[in-house]
Formats: sequence, C-alpha cells, structure tokens
Amino acid sequence: MKNNLPNRRTFFKTLAASGLVFSGISGLSCTNDSKQKIKTKHWDVIVVGGGPGGVPAAVAAARNGARVLLVERYGFLGGMATNALVHPYMKYKAGDKIITRGLFEEFLDSLMKNGALTGDRQHFDAEPMKWLLDRFVMESGVDLLLHTHGIGVLKKNQKIKTVRVFHKGGIEDLSADIFIDSTGDGDIAAWGGAKVEIGRKDDNQFQPMTLNFRMANVNIKAMPPGKEINGAYDEAKAKGEVKNPRENVLKFLTVHPDVIHFNTTRVIGKSSLDGWQSTEAEIEGRRQVDDMVRFLKKYIIGFEKSYLMKMGSQIGVRESRRIMGKYVLNADDVLSARHFDDGIACASYPIDIHNPTGTGTDIRFLKKGTYYKIPYRCLVPEGIDNLLVASRCISATHEAHSSLRVMPIVWALGQAAGTAASFCLKKNIKPADVETDELRKKLTEQGAFV
Ligand SMILES: Cc1cc2nc3c(=O)[nH]c(=O)nc-3n(C[C@H](O)[C@H](O)[C@H](O)COP(=O)(O)OP(=O)(O)OC[C@H]3O[C@@H](n4cnc5c(N)ncnc54)[C@H](O)[C@@H]3O)c2cc1C
Repeated sequence: MKNNLPNRRTFFKTLAASGLVFSGISGLSCTNDSKQKIKTKHWDVIVVGGGPGGVPAAVAAARNGARVLLVERYGFLGGMATNALVHPYMKYKAGDKIITRGLFEEFLDSLMKNGALTGDRQHFDAEPMKWLLDRFVMESGVDLLLHTHGIGVLKKNQKIKTVRVFHKGGIEDLSADIFIDSTGDGDIAAWGGAKVEIGRKDDNQFQPMTLNFRMANVNIKAMPPGKEINGAYDEAKAKGEVKNPRENVLKFLTVHPDVIHFNTTRVIGKSSLDGWQSTEAEIEGRRQVDDMVRFLKKYIIGFEKSYLMKMGSQIGVRESRRIMGKYVLNADDVLSARHFDDGIACASYPIDIHNPTGTGTDIRFLKKGTYYKIPYRCLVPEGIDNLLVASRCISATHEAHSSLRVMPIVWALGQAAGTAASFCLKKNIKPADVETDELRKKLTEQGAFV
C-alpha cells in the first residue's frame, strides 16, 4: 500500500529552498506531501479569531476598503461572550462619560433593536448575538470561514506569508498582506516568533479559568442578599459540600427574568495552551458547577425549583500569552490614568486579578471619573513586519492585562487594529510605521472615542 504520510525530508528541502519557515502547533512540523500541494488563497487582511477583538478588526478593515477573511475555530462568532457564556459587558464609562464607542456602540444598537440587550446596555443575550454577529461581519463585506483552526504560519524573513489552517476539508495555507491575531492566546504572534510572556513576573502564574453557568426558574424576588448567600457558601465549604477556592459567590442578573448567571467556579494552574490541561480544567469546572448547583438548590431561598440551564461550551480563559510589543502597558499607566499621544482605546476598568494560586481577588480602582488610554504601540509586536494584535493578549504586564482584558475595551482595540491594517495596505507600510495622529483622526471620524 502506498504510504500517504508526509514526506518530511522533501517538504523541508522545498521549504529551505523557498526561504519559508514553518512554525506552528508544537509537534506539527510537517503536514505536507510534495505531490499534494496545499492550496493557497489570498486576501488583503486575514483576521484569526472571531471574538470581541476579531469581529471589529475584520469589520473595520473591510469598511475601510480591504478584502478581509475572518477565520474562527467554532461554528459561531463572539469568542468568550458566546462560547464561554462570559457576561455582562463590564462598565465602559468614566463617571458619566461613555468611553467605548464606534463599532461597539453600533453593535450594541443592533442587540438593542433585536431585544437582546437590557436598558443599561450591559446585559446581553448570547444566543441572538450569534446571528447578529454573522450579519454584522457579512454586511461589512467580510469573508467568513468558520469551523477552521489556525495551526501555524509560514514566515519569510520578518513577514508572515500564510497562516496554515485546518478544517474537515483539509489543510490550507491562507495568504494575506496583513494578519491580525485575535485568538486571545496570541497563537499567530507566538508562531510568528513574537516575544511573549505568561503570567506574573516573579513566578509566571496566571489568572485562573472559570466555567460560567446559568440557573433558570429562579424566584429572584425571594433570593436573599449576597452577604447571606456568601455566609451559606462559607458554611457549605466548611462542611466539604462545596470544593472551590473562590472566596464568594459571584452572580449577575441576565436579560431573562428568572435566570441568574454565575461566574464563580475557579480552576487554577491549567493552561489554555495545552489540550491535556484544558481537558482537566473542563472536568474540574463541571465538577465545581455540580457542587454549586446542589448548594444553591439546598440552601438558597429562591433556587428550590431552579435548574441548571446552561454551562459555557468551553471554560473561560482569562489569561495566557501576552505579546511583547513596541510598548508594554503597566499597572502605573492604568492606575494613574495615563494618556498617550498614540492612544487608540480608552479604559476605566480596574486592575482585577483573580488569585492565580487560590482564594482572593486583587482589585485596584482608578480614581473616580478617570480613564487611561492604550497606545497603538501595544498592538504592534516586535519582530514581525505584517502583524497586528487585537485581543486580550496585547503588549501589557500581567497587572495591566487584568484591566484591559474586558470585552468593551477589546472591541475598541479591534476597531483600531482593523483600521490600522487598512492604512498599511493603502500606503504600503508596516503596522509599525502607521502615522498615529492620522489613525486617531480616522477612528474619531468613524465614531470611536480615542
Ligand atoms: C470567566 C471570565 C469572566 C469574564 N468576565 C467578564 C465580564 O463580566 N465582562 C467583560 O466585559 N469581560 C469579561 N471577561 C473578559 C473577556 O471575556 C475576554 O477577555 C475577552 O473575551 C477577550 O476577547 P478576545 O477577542 O481577545 O478573545 P476571545 O474572546 O477568547 O476570542 C478569541 C476567539 O478566537 C478563536 N480562536 C482562538 N484560537 C484560534 C485559532 N488558533 N484558530 C481559529 N480561531 C481561534 C476562539 O474560538 C474565539 O472565538 C471575562 C473572561 C473570563 C474568562
């Protein structure tokens, strides 16, 4: 029988001759047979990852004239908001001033028109959000490729030539002039050779994961105050009925009158960059959900007839890689509400570090009514000439990341990255050479608050 396995030697010889270097998922060094050429297709901009960073990045680039492909590993867009049930949008105001506008605000309007957003414009319904996001990107002229996983890049000198993707139809190399990494985990940047950091400076520990879940048929009016719920939680933990390192019960109202959202499990020390560890995390997350469901039904008034309505399709990931870029945003920038000349997004969310190793949450607020700006340089990784990062993994310290990671801020980063990508194409320049006054002007003209 003919051996259809990849011919490693021929593949590497061909690669070496072309000057291209493949780098991707660890262990995947060769996927090609010299006779079976991988198909290559070209776009102006390819965005990998369709979450709060990737969607606006793709839309902004397309509306500014680029031919854009958006690649997403799941069958729907939304990232953590849809796949991990992350909810609600954290506050995007400084005092009374709304500081995230532009495409984010436009999408909120669309949620509102379709009855999928509450009056405070923070609580949304993640189910209609899925098709509203489809429409949002398609109506902007973005090509969409779902069920497709980025698995590596082909790079020549300092440039990414293609992103290698896998779907059930096969493996393809998708080529573009500019790439945008919106994978949350910084996959494309890391494979492209960008310098990355993980976790705290002293011990590399990173924020824990959380499997979100919702209880339905709750008698919300009968529910006791949070203090009482937390007291019962402490007692259940002392009796060994709940095993969860989190210090209290974190819950939110939803768009549904009888449904409560819980962001209260805590899985520590597991990395989203490894399938084995992610598996352990999912299983531990579901074990904790089971503990919590039993606890709520047994001890908390209003939950007697409630039931587990839904868990996230995947566990929520707060932190993994952070890309080191032209500037590294730090805690002092956040807490002193620093404004930068090349600021492309504004943020007021506190430093919010869920203890990477156990109980407790470190929350440090900005002075009331103030906000900081995120410099464009944080979106530009060192060492790759045609990549922008539009995601929670932009260039920041562990502390600054804990603030900028929330969804409204990431939407603003996405709009900035997509707009910058369109500048690169029109002027034939690298992301590092984008004129930031001009970028800020364009973002402002297009409704963003910078
Ligand atoms: C438990 C938890 C609670 C949170 N609470 C809140 C909150 O209350 N409010 C708030 O505003 N924010 C909250 N956040 C933060 C927020 O959800 C995330 O930081 C935000 O979603 C990051 O957006 P992103 O686009 O960078 O990444 P993601 O939302 O993770 O999106 C990345 C997308 O890329 C796709 N992808 C990844 N790798 C690949 C690949 N190799 N190939 C193809 N596709 C890929 C993923 O499927 C996903 O769709 C919370 C986060 C967690 C984990």
